Amino acid sequence: KVKESGKNDFLFYSEEWDDRSRERLALEHDLKIALQKEQLVLHYQPQYHLQTGEIVGVEALVRWEHPERGLVPPGQFIGLAEENGLIVQIGEWVLREACRQNKAWQDAGLRKVPVSVNLSIRQFMQQHLHEKVADILRATSLDAKYLDLEITETMTIDVAHASRCLLELTKLGVTISIDDFGTGYSSFHYLKNLPIGRLKIDRSFVRDIQQDPSDAAIVAAIIAMAHNLNLQVIAEGVETEEQKRFLQAHDCDEMQGFLWGPPMRGEAVQALLAKAG
Ligand code: C2E
Ligand code: MG
Ligand code: MG
Ligand code: MG
Repeated sequence: KVKESGKNDFLFYSEEWDDRSRERLALEHDLKIALQKEQLVLHYQPQYHLQTGEIVGVEALVRWEHPERGLVPPGQFIGLAEENGLIVQIGEWVLREACRQNKAWQDAGLRKVPVSVNLSIRQFMQQHLHEKVADILRATSLDAKYLDLEITETMTIDVAHASRCLLELTKLGVTISIDDFGTGYSSFHYLKNLPIGRLKIDRSFVRDIQQDPSDAAIVAAIIAMAHNLNLQVIAEGVETEEQKRFLQAHDCDEMQGFLWGPPMRGEAVQALLAKAG
């Protein structure tokens, strides 16, 4: 028996068909209805200024409230959604919801900070991404400067596309961050030619900053390079006071990590923003 699973690939049923494939198919089936049934939810992780300790932004991170499985983290379904193309719809929902929520916080008189939204490669390759983003900003009435889009280094491999796309996006007034910096395709060429505002140092470099001199050197170098290029720099995955002190000593601008707050529900972030005034 053969079952069509995508545009041009086929899954073959067999006796040996392993549990993982069956699991994947079940997840894929459920994911298709997750959007219609509004089972996706955004959590937000605060981003802090390293010297002042002020909250300066939040990153929207999608979760799936599965009726039987409970809260499913993005690592368990984003890859699948990338493969079957659902990520485009999911990503659009995430953008709209993040903008709507940020505008609602602003309307409630809370501190105004940008919301960062992760873009997938499929969304990034869309011809009219900037028009979609413009529509969403218009529909939610969010000022574009309060939307930051996170892309990865890999998305800049097609330099011609990336520069066209990023130029159109930044013309709207949104800012661009490079996520997981240091782990992807690392030609420095794009850094000077693309309209990027911020580098996010991948947490794999931050984790062993105390024990591994190479990681310490890499993090210090990324911070120095970012500043020389007039880019902001934020460290991901900061979990300890020692890591924070290292980053402060090396003049890193911002940090995000479990030390000061994991991704949390909207209501919890709202309380943080209210306190910040
Ligand atoms: P990311 O964009 O690099 O997001 C940071 C991830 O690191 C989050 O995992 C966050 O919970 C985790 N994290 C933050 N601070 C710490 C820390 O101190 N220690 C450790 N160990 N981890 C920390 P999460 O939420 O599971 O997301 C994983 C990835 O899934 C994200 O990595 C991003 O690539 C992707 N993702 C999440 N939401 C979306 C989305 O809406 N669209 C797309 N395309 N991808 C998304
Ligand atoms: Mg991110
Ligand atoms: Mg990241
Ligand atoms: Mg990361």
